[in-house]
Amino acid sequence: MGDITCKFGGSSLADASCFRQVEKIIHANPQRRFIVPSAPGKRDTKDKKITDLLYAWHNMAKQGLDASEPATIIAERFSELARELGVHFDIEKHLAEIAAQVSMHATPDYMASRGEYLNGRLMAEVLNATFVDPADCIKFSKSGDLDPVTYELLGQCLNGSGLFVVPGFYGSLPSGEIKTFSRGGSDISGSIVARASTSALYENWTDVSGFRMADPRIVPEAKRIEEITYQELRELSYMGATVLHDEAIYPVREHKIPIHIRNTKDPDSPGTLIVADRESKTPVCGIAGRAGFSMITIAKALMNKERGFGFRVLEVLEEFGIAWEHMPTGIDDISLIIRDEEIGDLGDKMMNEITKRCDPDEISLSPGLAMIATVGKGMNHHVGVAARLCSALAGADINIRVIDQGSSEMNIIIGVEEQDLARAVRVIYYAFESWT
Ligand code: ASP
Repeated sequence: MGDITCKFGGSSLADASCFRQVEKIIHANPQRRFIVPSAPGKRDTKDKKITDLLYAWHNMAKQGLDASEPATIIAERFSELARELGVHFDIEKHLAEIAAQVSMHATPDYMASRGEYLNGRLMAEVLNATFVDPADCIKFSKSGDLDPVTYELLGQCLNGSGLFVVPGFYGSLPSGEIKTFSRGGSDISGSIVARASTSALYENWTDVSGFRMADPRIVPEAKRIEEITYQELRELSYMGATVLHDEAIYPVREHKIPIHIRNTKDPDSPGTLIVADRESKTPVCGIAGRAGFSMITIAKALMNKERGFGFRVLEVLEEFGIAWEHMPTGIDDISLIIRDEEIGDLGDKMMNEITKRCDPDEISLSPGLAMIATVGKGMNHHVGVAARLCSALAGADINIRVIDQGSSEMNIIIGVEEQDLARAVRVIYYAFESWT
């Protein structure tokens, strides 16, 4: 029985009734002591997220435009929250401070962080909790990486009894300037708080009841995943499973603190538990895919005998600052799969440079590829997984353009034409849904 860190996403804190529900969840278990809120999210589909309004405010001010519209909406949202929650919250004072910073050319990170900051202040009032400002204890290095000193500093700030509120999404640089994580980064803050407070569990409260075996927009009936390892989740998130920020597992993973994904609106649902290890009852635990990849194929006779060929290809990519994802190879050919946004408008230049340095017989760059990962630690040494996957796709007349299996045997990645993505995910899901 240890302490619990709870992170609540923006949709869990969108209005006063959401706040009340969160309060109920926190008070239902005295182990829930470290609370990490996001900024208020959308109340309905037409609404705007506070973080987006803050970015808009910053952009307008930067261009010398009148930013009173986003500023007024933010003021109204927080005043309404405070009024309905019956707490004293001097939003005017806070907004005056933000406006003063805007006039002194506040950075976009400072502006964006104010949603979490204000919500954290408000939540600390509601819960009568100690407020901890991450600017004082979540530290980034000059290059923007998390400084490990954070765990010690934050640990000291969280030492004591009662409830603590630590806003998500930001910390500070050595200069003292505010720095945010990438979008959705309060998940990472929650993980850092869980580790610094030596919590036994990190509960991540969101608006879905955990991960599903496949994207429910593609397979609406996809089963909920009960338990998944950090590594399996990493593989699925990389290919587009978006419930949790894909960097959020790292702070807790080393300390084997489980992450429990739970639904604020359905707190009785068992959710998904992310753990260091698990017993796998089925070979496949999830399928995820995404479009937006291109493939470079380079062929040259006797490539296998030419020393340094692969090195020269990768050297070009490095010089162009392009990261690659997979490299399926044949004897006389090599392919590189790269995200389209990495290539940008450098495609022609990159291909010319590879041609110059490697003198291939053939070289081509083809866009329009989607990659699909079929993941599960139970695949390891389980005979017939690839056969089942390929024959299911063949049965649906879907062509596999590339196939790649990591040596950990936890993941089979295939490439298909973008227009086949959804159909292929469905076909793979049904091939493995109840296969043991
Ligand atoms: N509020 C930030 C965003 O909208 C961070 C977060 O919610 O995790 O991205």
